[in-house]
Amino acid sequence: MKYRTLGRTGLKVSEIGLGSEAFVNQTVDFGVELVETALGAGINYFDLYNPEPYVRDVFGRAMKGRREKFVMQAHLCSAWLGGQYKRTRNMAEVRAAFADLLTRLDTEYIDVGMIHYVDEQQDFDEVFGGPVLQFAKEQKAAGKIRHLGMSTHNPRIAIQAARTGEIDVIMFSVNPAYDILPPNEDVNLLFEKSTYEAPDVLSSTDPVRQELYSLCESQGVALTVMKPYGGGALLKAEESPFGAAMTAAQCLHYCLTRPGVATVLAGARSKEELLEAAAYCDLPEEQKDYSALLSSCPAHPFTDKCMYCGHCAPCTVGIDIATVNKFADLCEAQGMVPETLREHYAALDTKAGACIQCGACETRCPFGVKIIEHMQKAQELFGE
Ligand code: SF4
Ligand code: SF4
Repeated sequence: MKYRTLGRTGLKVSEIGLGSEAFVNQTVDFGVELVETALGAGINYFDLYNPEPYVRDVFGRAMKGRREKFVMQAHLCSAWLGGQYKRTRNMAEVRAAFADLLTRLDTEYIDVGMIHYVDEQQDFDEVFGGPVLQFAKEQKAAGKIRHLGMSTHNPRIAIQAARTGEIDVIMFSVNPAYDILPPNEDVNLLFEKSTYEAPDVLSSTDPVRQELYSLCESQGVALTVMKPYGGGALLKAEESPFGAAMTAAQCLHYCLTRPGVATVLAGARSKEELLEAAAYCDLPEEQKDYSALLSSCPAHPFTDKCMYCGHCAPCTVGIDIATVNKFADLCEAQGMVPETLREHYAALDTKAGACIQCGACETRCPFGVKIIEHMQKAQELFGE
């Protein structure tokens, strides 16, 4: 397993995390065993959106005596009422659900207290201008939540949350299919194949989503990824909007090569699926590489924009082309060269200015990126 820093929280988290869909319609014993398998594979990041009592009990049992092995991302505003899940903004329900969470997990604190599922502008305005955010901040001040987060499928809402300065972690739906769609308040559109036939669907990452990734990376707001397989559709050619099947490893790699992403929550429903996702970190590069597939798929081939896939390597003189392109894009998104990026660039072994324009990389880039031009621009931007 490999580990990354969860943005400005400074927490070290596994690149692959575990989402709580894994526990739906299971038993506490099954759940505890699955968590044990996850820990054995080096996973330390767990999402708990599911308020069902027995799912919370799974973590109460699994964490006993070893709380420090878990980085828990658990959700506020997700309640179990009348035997059913409910997203709620009713403060009596929000308070009761949070008290139940701490009791069942038998813990003093949650690492990331995630305000649950904010996709609509009106809801965002009410949550951030009203008692929900206030409550979350009170719990943080009391030490019961270490860092605040928010989950959403809407990149416009995610951008606003990142800009508040209150939110350190955003749980966001990332995969190549959602990335070509303009923002929308209706999550259901993401799952409908007809959505991908609309005229405004792009042949590369939607600019608002790109802005979100760049903003998060530059502000130290960590993205934790949900729906990396597009609800499973990307794994089947007949269901995928691209008309070709991706492997689980390719989907995970796509997410982990987006700027700002710290961990991907695998939606494993069995030990085998979990271990397959966790094995991603040990796979050779060619098994993770999604570039050929996305650039040549029958529908919506990605073109003309660097996807940071690394397929163009090795550069003749040793430039890390994907990283140089990423840094240059981050500067472009901010309209300036921030000092931190200048330092990161300075730490690269070989700078863009070393490019001898041999063109070897361009023949290997499946997305048709004009790499020589990009290196020249990066040299002008960073001065070396
Ligand atoms: S230049 Fe092309 S091959 Fe290289 S990282 Fe970007 S998209 Fe991938
Ligand atoms: S064209 Fe420049 S960036 Fe590409 S392989 Fe040659 S030296 Fe490296």
